[in-house]
Amino acid sequence: MSLYTSFPYNEYHLVKGDIERAIQKVLKSGVYVLGETVGQFEAEFANYIGVNHCIGVANGTDALFLALKALNIGVGDEVITTPFTAAFTALAIAATGAKPVFVDIEPDTFTINPLLIEKAITKRTKAIMPVHLFGKPANIPAIMKLAKQHKLKVIEDACQAHGAELNGKRVGTFGDVACYSFYPTKNLGGIGDGGAIVTNNKALAEKIRLLRLGGQTKKYYHTILGYNSRLDEIQAAILRVKLQHLDEFISMRQEIARQYDTTLADTNLVLPVHPDNERHVFHLYVVRTNKRDQLQTSLAKHDVITQVHYPWPLHKLPAFNYLPKKSLPVSERAAKTALSLPIYPGLKKIEVQKIVDLIQKSTNS
Ligand SMILES: *Cc1c(COP(=O)(O)O)cnc(C)c1O
Repeated sequence: MSLYTSFPYNEYHLVKGDIERAIQKVLKSGVYVLGETVGQFEAEFANYIGVNHCIGVANGTDALFLALKALNIGVGDEVITTPFTAAFTALAIAATGAKPVFVDIEPDTFTINPLLIEKAITKRTKAIMPVHLFGKPANIPAIMKLAKQHKLKVIEDACQAHGAELNGKRVGTFGDVACYSFYPTKNLGGIGDGGAIVTNNKALAEKIRLLRLGGQTKKYYHTILGYNSRLDEIQAAILRVKLQHLDEFISMRQEIARQYDTTLADTNLVLPVHPDNERHVFHLYVVRTNKRDQLQTSLAKHDVITQVHYPWPLHKLPAFNYLPKKSLPVSERAAKTALSLPIYPGLKKIEVQKIVDLIQKSTNS
């Protein structure tokens, strides 16, 4: 059987009975969108992250978009973000009419380099959107300091970092607002699309609640031009089950990461950094090598189907052609050398060992 970088079926299998009972309960309730279950999940997720408010929405991209809209960011504004992320981060910025401004990543971590942010700030800059990529916290203390100095908003893209921590504090609690995706492969994933926004700002939370529901303050009474971005009951029911197991699933990912760390230490791969003051939740385990394509091909020959996150930094994508041309060498290099090894709850020790053996054979030849 093939091994993949991500394999959400395994997670479903680990809590199958509970998920199937939760779905049955929704089916019998007769309420399928934004009902009681969504409310319960929102309260539980807010509690897990350690914030006052959580608003469930249709997906992670909408979460980012609605957070920006609620902060009145749009045409004429600039938002600083990383070019080394899922394109959806910057698509959400562009959808508001604001301009994404890409700032290169740190050489050793894959996350935005705070030392380069200040130079990118103009009088049109309204916000910074750091991404806690692959489950590793970005350098958010340095980003918050800059944001305070320049009076900028911070929207954390935590779509890959449910439960990650820095200095004992959860990501998602540092900025003005944080956004999550519950796409099936994410560390907390549904069986379909879903997303959420968290914040401690009550007024902002109320605005986002209004925006996700077409701008209605009561049924059929629309006071502002809103959007339609609702979370459905089946996804919320599944997410409630999986949230109870999230810490256990994170531990399983960390266990696999430790096994890779020790067994790959003497290869020529560059391994991911994760200092002791961080809780890296290993959404992905991304190594670097100059012979990336060769390694990926040789693993594929033995049914280990890996992925590249990400083959193009965003400034090199046709969709972002309209932005000023830029050279962002650290991201460009990362796109050529990064490879995401299999990591997911349920991946067995013996399977990790098989992958490691294949890597050792490939990198020694
Ligand atoms: C998955 C992801 C998104 C988008 O989330 P969707 O639920 O797929 O819309 C945004 N940013 C990052 C970093 C992601 O990993």
